[in-house]
Amino acid sequence: MGDYNQLLVLDLVRRDPGISRVELSQRTGLTAQTVSNICRRLVDAGLIEEAGRKEADTGARRTVFQVVAGGQYSVGLHIDPARTTLVLMNLAGEVEDRTSIPTPTTDGPEDALAAIVDAVGALVRRAGVPLPRVSGVGVSAPGPVQADAVVGPPNLRGWGVVRLREELERRLGLPVVLEKDTIAAATGELWAGGGTLSDFAFIYLGTGIGAGIVLDGEVKRGSSDNLGEIGHLSGDADGPRCTCGGRGCVAITSAPVHLVAAAVDAGTLPPVDLDDFLGVERALGRLCALADAGDERAEEIVGRSARAIARVAGNLANILDLDTVVLGGPNWPALAPTYLRIVPPITASLLTVGEVHGVGVRGTTLGEDGGAIGAACLVMSSVASARSDHLLLPR
Ligand SMILES: [Zn+2]
Repeated sequence: MGDYNQLLVLDLVRRDPGISRVELSQRTGLTAQTVSNICRRLVDAGLIEEAGRKEADTGARRTVFQVVAGGQYSVGLHIDPARTTLVLMNLAGEVEDRTSIPTPTTDGPEDALAAIVDAVGALVRRAGVPLPRVSGVGVSAPGPVQADAVVGPPNLRGWGVVRLREELERRLGLPVVLEKDTIAAATGELWAGGGTLSDFAFIYLGTGIGAGIVLDGEVKRGSSDNLGEIGHLSGDADGPRCTCGGRGCVAITSAPVHLVAAAVDAGTLPPVDLDDFLGVERALGRLCALADAGDERAEEIVGRSARAIARVAGNLANILDLDTVVLGGPNWPALAPTYLRIVPPITASLLTVGEVHGVGVRGTTLGEDGGAIGAACLVMSSVASARSDHLLLPR
């Protein structure tokens, strides 16, 4: 892909379609001649194209550029213990295709890795994209992560330490970047926000519960890239006892397996195999549908989990002085109706600085694919940007 300056120019053209050479020169500090040479190389490589002319303040008419959407692609992959989701994103940041497969639940990672390799190949082939146009694969995986490996994720049985980046690079023959799921999801949301989001928490509602944090427009990663483990924050003082000794930790109160087990106990759902994550996810969907239809016991179970999340969200907003909380993750579409009714007022009522500013609570704009889209953004950023957090998806 060439040198840093070339990446910088490509990044700017992508963020700001219709930018001219003069503006590129001003924004990068590169000389007009260097910018001209870079633009020519990028045009020759099929990554950017001329997009007409516009009149400058001086009256001069200048050629402007935009990216060639199909000039480059990245694959985003989100591994949740229940489902693995894949998206194919073009250089303009548009998702051209998506698919999802059940995450194999056999002991250890081997079946999952094989299924992922097959699914990536199928997605790229189906879209008719030549492999050289795929710049890489971004992987969003449950934490903890360490140095490009996942380290014994609690809901992936028998995984232990898996060098996911290395393994997938070898099998796919493509560059791979790995990020924890909550951080990838927050990255996707930040990009999609198009500069409207600056200080927010992304609360990830999947098989596990976590948070991604963005402060001052920058995705935070913490000392070991594992920021956002909110599972042991209590949101329900009368909730069930947790393994940590506390009560009402959201890792329990708001985990799908807990909601489904409670619904089965209450006779609201028929018995479900609680070790089958995909089965639990589907049962959660049925439970939420019952709640939306006015079933009182279902409403109570889903509502109680929402109140716990709302309290934790309020505390995060207080600690970090956030103005926005975004709710998302694989189970968001099912949970949204109940959560959007219950969470915003409780979270807002907890805000200590409510006299100074409020806190907006809303659902993700990226649907259930947010983790995969965020992972694809991370690839784009590593090949086409100096600083991923500041790139923007089309709106
Ligand atoms: Zn706990």
